[in-house]
Amino acid sequence: MSDKRLLDTKRPTPLASSGALLQHIRLGLAFTRADLAALTGAARSTVSQRVDALIAAALVYEAGDGVSTGGRPPTVLAFNGDAGVVLTADLGATHSSFGVHDLNGVALARRGADLGIADGPEVVLASVLGILEELLHESGRSPTQVRGVGVGLPGPVEFASGTAVHPPIMPGWDGFPVPPHIQQHFDVPVLVDNDVNIMALGEYWTEWRDAVEDLIFVKVGTGIGSGIIVAGQIHRGAQGAAGDLGHVQLMGRTELCRCGNRGCVEAVAGGAALARSLTEGGTPASTARDVVELARGGNATAVRLIREAGRNLGEVLAGAVNFFNPAVIVMGGDVTAADQSLLAGVREVVYQRSTSLATQHLQIVRSRLGDRAGITGAAVMVIEHLLAPAAVDRQLETAVTG
Ligand SMILES: [Zn+2]
Repeated sequence: MSDKRLLDTKRPTPLASSGALLQHIRLGLAFTRADLAALTGAARSTVSQRVDALIAAALVYEAGDGVSTGGRPPTVLAFNGDAGVVLTADLGATHSSFGVHDLNGVALARRGADLGIADGPEVVLASVLGILEELLHESGRSPTQVRGVGVGLPGPVEFASGTAVHPPIMPGWDGFPVPPHIQQHFDVPVLVDNDVNIMALGEYWTEWRDAVEDLIFVKVGTGIGSGIIVAGQIHRGAQGAAGDLGHVQLMGRTELCRCGNRGCVEAVAGGAALARSLTEGGTPASTARDVVELARGGNATAVRLIREAGRNLGEVLAGAVNFFNPAVIVMGGDVTAADQSLLAGVREVVYQRSTSLATQHLQIVRSRLGDRAGITGAAVMVIEHLLAPAAVDRQLETAVTG
């Protein structure tokens, strides 16, 4: 028992370190030096000294006077979102999005481009770097202001090393070291994650973080994947494979999946599977986007297939709801964007099949960010890494001693 307690004891970052004070200001928990002293219990002189260090590092600025409670009004402190920029790339199978963001995550410039991920890492990353250079120039910022780069890849990623692991649609990428490659160009921290994880983070951070803590983001495009937010953080799992919802088996189905197994929900309800069904029924369609176009154009078969896909996906999500009890399920990806059919099918089954306690307050909604979710999440991922209290403390120490 005592051994376990020893193991469980992690040394927490002091609540009043410079990095922690910055966090309190960023999160809106404190607005003045007096607030910070009250919040952390640290002495006013200590707080003032550390705030001065944050101001010297241009991470915090004095934003004017607050409301006086008698006497001199206190100075309001604010996080300086212009202290640098973060570059992002959300790479898809055939289409990618790019962004330049300030340290509040706001996009200063963004762009989409058609890149074939199957062209391999050398070719794709050369294009990525070229586009990021151009966007940076467009945003009016210089390379010296770049603080970090965030990348999403359409396959399983080992987060610690930033490499794709046996990605099915990415020939040549298996084990390719993405961060060092980008760092030859931008010598800053480079974080790489699975594209659905960053979409989940983007959607959560922008739309939900003040309201809920647990969320599942489901992307239905060519394939099906999900990103899981637990207690406000991405849940990657032991090997980074958490959320691989597309390969959960549907009862009684035998369709062959690209993973080699049979009856995976992706092989039944993914965009590629829907395109195949339409083609077999005499309506030619080769991609998820074709299916979406047909549904938007009022093709009754396409609409029916998408609704049926929603029901099948609902079967799997009903299990996930019982198991994980999320507050929100956000549906994203091309097929979700078609119309309300997919969402309707999912809702129908999830509310019927999950326990009433788990669905009592459950919301099932469409992504509000759409194709901006990925780059937004990539920016948030990098910003939270750069501005984590311990990272800021290290940075300030280096500034003092080095
Ligand atoms: Zn599968």
